[in-house]
Formats: sequence, structure tokens, C-alpha cells
Amino acid sequence: MTLTRLIPAAVALALMATSAVAQSAQPEAPRWSFAIHGGAGVIERDSLSPEQDAAYRAALTRALEAGQAILSRGGTAMDAVQAAIQIMEDNPLFNAGRGAVFTAEGRNELDAAVMDGSNLAAGSVAGLTTTRHPIAAARAVMEQSPHVMLIGSGADAFAASVGLEQVEPSFFFTERRWQGLETALRARNLPIPARPAGAPGPQAAIDESQAPPLNERKFGTVGAVALDQSGNLAAGTSTGGMTAKQWGRVGDVPVIGAGTYASNADGCAVSATGDGEYFIRATVARDICAGIAAEAAMSPDVRASQRRASACAADEICLSHPRNPDFVVIDRELAQVEALGGSGGVIVMTRSGDAWLHMNTSGMYRGAVSSTEPARVGIYANEPPR
Ligand code: ASP
Repeated sequence: MTLTRLIPAAVALALMATSAVAQSAQPEAPRWSFAIHGGAGVIERDSLSPEQDAAYRAALTRALEAGQAILSRGGTAMDAVQAAIQIMEDNPLFNAGRGAVFTAEGRNELDAAVMDGSNLAAGSVAGLTTTRHPIAAARAVMEQSPHVMLIGSGADAFAASVGLEQVEPSFFFTERRWQGLETALRARNLPIPARPAGAPGPQAAIDESQAPPLNERKFGTVGAVALDQSGNLAAGTSTGGMTAKQWGRVGDVPVIGAGTYASNADGCAVSATGDGEYFIRATVARDICAGIAAEAAMSPDVRASQRRASACAADEICLSHPRNPDFVVIDRELAQVEALGGSGGVIVMTRSGDAWLHMNTSGMYRGAVSSTEPARVGIYANEPPR
């Protein structure tokens, strides 16, 4: 063999070896991945006692484990999302299901949504008052009705007709949220309504001793995003909305594309928490998915120049993060919410199983787990997972 033929062969061998090294250095892609949130807001380290901090972390861990159990044995992203959210809906620490905030009229009106990224099917409900698990009702709308969104008594009637558990409205009552309502109404000079029929007294049976003080400014909506072993993405969100909401107000959660969105084609699933009005106006969840899809289609040069021009350039974690192009998209979207006057956070799952948990507030109850990473939960903005 001549020297001229040997040199290219040697170069090719060297290149193959280099790329093998590069490939082995790549972290293993997760077979499944899962993330949850329990609301964002002004949550400072000194605003929670150690007991409260521990109670939230334990509650988040239980919800994460429910999703993990389903995904690790090959279950669907949608099942994992529903299971985790139902656990949080039953926990009075969160503003969803039992423990939801009250309307100005002293009612609990519950909103929820789900979306299946595999076929863009979606279901949502708003203003439920008797369905124990609003997330199950949203899923039933998606799977068992020809519609996407049902509201009010009709939505409860539909949920009952498909066999979902119905409860008295007072089931959702918690003293802490009632006190929060009274405080909010007094601040706005609005009348305080009578306590709902059947509501337990101040010595409620539900253990609320771990609940944080009433004056903190935080949301408390719950949500989940998942990638399953078949490569399908799903998202779900459930909430009581905003304290002292009036006139049948509905937030971003049940608005598909605002607080909830999932699309396998975009490679993205999103659940949001925050000032719903701003998340609706910024179409946050859909924009993030469209941005992630567009970013994936960009040439590396364009992507790098976009990154340099973005807020990411000033953020050390962002710049050093190997997945930071997705972060840029998410950060840009939250910046838009902030520019409009809103605050909050999002959890985002990508098709490669990367979970982003990002907020423009001082905290967000959150957690993530995957087939390659152990379960981690966080509360304050400056701790993992992010
Ligand atoms: N986004 C919800 C709403 O506006 C509130 C929350 O996140 O807690 O209804």
C-alpha cells in the first residue's frame, strides 16, 4: 500500500476513534423522564419553617414516586401525569383539589387540563365544584367526549356521568385558604361571604399544621410533564386559580397552549404556574414548544448567535449548560411574561428526556426524576433541580 493511500486511512481511523470517545462521553439518554411542580411564587428560605420545608419536600417526593413507578415499568406519560397530579390534588398543601383557594363568593372553583403529545389530543375543565379529581375530569373530556373544554355544572355533570368520584363542595374546604380569602377580601374592601355549608370549623380534621403562613405571595397550582418509554410526551395542570377570583374567572391552566401543552412533533411538553392572565396573553406553553422545535431545526451557527444575543449570555448556569439552547427559549418566554407584568414558572420536558424547571420568582415547588437520574426535589430558585 502506498503512503498516499495509508494517510487518509490513518486519518479516518483517528477520526473514528475521536468520535467513539466523544460518543462514550455523551451522557446516556434517559428511557423515561418525569417532572412536577406545585406552584411558584415568593418563597424565601426564611418564609418556611424547617417542618414546612420538609412537608413540601415529602409531598413532592410522593408525587414524583407515583409517576416514576408508572414510567419505569413502561406505563404511559399520560398515566404518570394523572397519577402524580391526583396525589397533589388530595394534598391540602397545594392550591388544587382539596386545599384550593376560594373565589370572592366563598366557593372552590377548580380548573385543569391535560394534553397528549402523541396525537395532540387535549381535554380541559373550568369551574368544577364537585369532582374530586379535576385532572381526571380533564382527561375524561379528552378521551370520552367529542370536546376539548367543558365548564361549570355541565363539566361536573359530565364527570359524574363517566363515573368520576363526586364530593360535596365542602370537601375542598381548608381553614388556611378560608383565612387567606378573608385577608384578600378585607384588603380589597370586598364583603366576606358566609362560610360554605358543611365546611368544617377552624379545628378542621385536615392536618394543616405544615401549611405556610397566609401572607406569602405564591401560587400553588400543580402540574406534571412526562416522557415515556415509547417516546410519547404528555402534560397536565390543575389549580384552584387565584384567591378571591370573581365573576367566573378562568386562568391559564385549562387554556390549551397557555398553561398546558404537549407535542411529540415539537419534542416538548409544558405545564405552567403563575399569573394566569399573563400566561394566556403570552401563549406561554405553545410558544415554548414552538421555540424548542424551531431551535432544534436551526444550524449550529444560528443557534450560537441567538444564544449570545439572549439573556442566557448573562447567566452562568445557562451558558455552561450543555442543553442551554432550550433554556434560551424558556427564559425568553418567561421574560415576555415578566415584561407584561406577570410572574411564575414552567416545567418543560423535551423529547430527549431533558427536564427544565425554570421560574422568574424566588421559588417554585418542583421535582424531577428519570431513568438515569435519581429523584430530586427543590423549593427555592437557587437550588437544583433547574
Ligand atoms: N396559573 C394559575 C391561574 O392563574 C394560578 C397558579 O399558578 O397558581 O389560575
